[in-house]
Amino acid sequence: MTATLDHAPIAPPAPYASRRTFAIISHPDAGKTTLTEKLLLAGGAIRAAGSVKARGERRRARSDWMDIEQSRGISVTSSVMTFERDGITFNLLDTPGHSDFSEDTYRTLSAVDAAIMVIDAAKGIESQTRKLFEVCRLRDIPIITFINKVDREGLDPLELLDEIATGLALDLAPMTWPIGLGTDFRGLIDIEGKRALLPDQRGGAQVSEIKFTDPAELATTARIEPHILKPTLEGLELAESALPRFDLQSFLEGHLSPVFFGSALKEFGTEQLLQALETFAPPPTTRPATARAVSAAENPVTGFVFKVQANMDPNHRDRVAFVRLCSGKFRRGMKVFHVRENRMVTIAAPIFFFAQERETADEALPGDIIGIPNHGMLRVGDTLTEGEPLRFEGIPNFAPEILRRVMLEDPMKAKQLTRALQDMAEEGVTQVFRPILGAQFIVGVVGPLQLEVLASRMEKEYNVPIRYEAAPYVTARWITGDKADVERFVESNRSSVAEDRDGAMVFMARNTWALDQARQDWPGLNFVDTRERG
Ligand code: GDP
Repeated sequence: MTATLDHAPIAPPAPYASRRTFAIISHPDAGKTTLTEKLLLAGGAIRAAGSVKARGERRRARSDWMDIEQSRGISVTSSVMTFERDGITFNLLDTPGHSDFSEDTYRTLSAVDAAIMVIDAAKGIESQTRKLFEVCRLRDIPIITFINKVDREGLDPLELLDEIATGLALDLAPMTWPIGLGTDFRGLIDIEGKRALLPDQRGGAQVSEIKFTDPAELATTARIEPHILKPTLEGLELAESALPRFDLQSFLEGHLSPVFFGSALKEFGTEQLLQALETFAPPPTTRPATARAVSAAENPVTGFVFKVQANMDPNHRDRVAFVRLCSGKFRRGMKVFHVRENRMVTIAAPIFFFAQERETADEALPGDIIGIPNHGMLRVGDTLTEGEPLRFEGIPNFAPEILRRVMLEDPMKAKQLTRALQDMAEEGVTQVFRPILGAQFIVGVVGPLQLEVLASRMEKEYNVPIRYEAAPYVTARWITGDKADVERFVESNRSSVAEDRDGAMVFMARNTWALDQARQDWPGLNFVDTRERG
């Protein structure tokens, strides 16, 4: 009997299969900026180390609202960096690291297909890592773990992995293993590749590799001192018996994370990380939307706005909406359907964000990010299609934890205030509520630093100095339910109800007791702490 061969032609990979759209999540100081710089360097997007910061300097020079960023040394904006290597296009979406900007970060994470989790070898999981990880888990985003700063004294690798695996309830599969840490650091073992990667004299970028059949050979072949090699191999052996092997499927489902050790600063181990991103991280696939899921393979263009940034250039009062494409091939000058506004709009001058400069795009594929300059037409959460009225899910508004009354220093500027607050709300810097009784706006933020950013930008960009007064509310909840019931609730609680910028009704609770009471008294209504935008 002759075996029949299946002669069905193998379809060439879709062009978007070369896209890797990802973010780096970490606690401040773990090394995200340093790693970003090294990845961009490896991808040839920038020529010299330091350019990421230098680019930041230029940006700051352009818009001085980043004073706070400068003085505090934190990053408050997300940006998009694109680089290429081995035929793969990487879109790295930068997320602000400071916890006060977590809302912005959440939205950015809604636009990626994978994440790198950077952990400081001496510190293990920190608060911000945990929070961001949980957001990734909500969406089952595959995560590659990078344990950074092996050139410094750190925790024992096995203990560290145990702590991360238990703390995050995540399976970890080590791919590389450090030979010693800190001053004892001698290199990395590539576990699958059965080789040692050895740094130069100063511990810098990899200069040589030595293959082995048994890692104990490294004592002679790589001249690794026994007091360093022995505990390394003991740890590795334990890790191999106690921890699972890498499994692509479980990684793609978000259950297992491959672990790479290294030093971003010394550019050691970062090459292996980048290769993992190339080979394991998924290209764009399918995204949930209202009514149906949208596959990246579909022809019609779809995408959604995950970020809006106003006044990138103070000379032009423009805003740029960052759109993540989910399907189709986007071309310049194309007409798309703005689902929330129920009309077609022409995207005349879309921009790509390259690491070097903003460049004009002619064509963008699923996974790519385009910037669309506009005057307020596009908001975070908006979906663009070629006509289908669907909406991508998962860009929530979070109930603010801090509420303040906005007081104008100059009462003649009421009109400018309204306009400026609207802009800031559209950008997601703050949420704005207008009480149905009383004239003062209430702003709501997730962290106190956002208040400072807001005041500083109001003054600098709009020439509207403001100050804050305490508002008598502890929290805000969107009221949902039967329309007539909502109206009755509003009527009987007029002093505690406000409208958000979309006109949705919000219950401003004076204390948690009031919220509990409202829930008891109005069992037909829901008081919810997130609201999908759009
Ligand atoms: P971010 O806040 O996560 O962006 O962290 P940075 O990249 O700014 O790094 C914080 C500090 O850690 C800086 O002083 C870096 O030079 C340092 N750093 C980053 N990576 C490494 C590393 O691999 N080894 C050592 N020794 N220091 C590092």
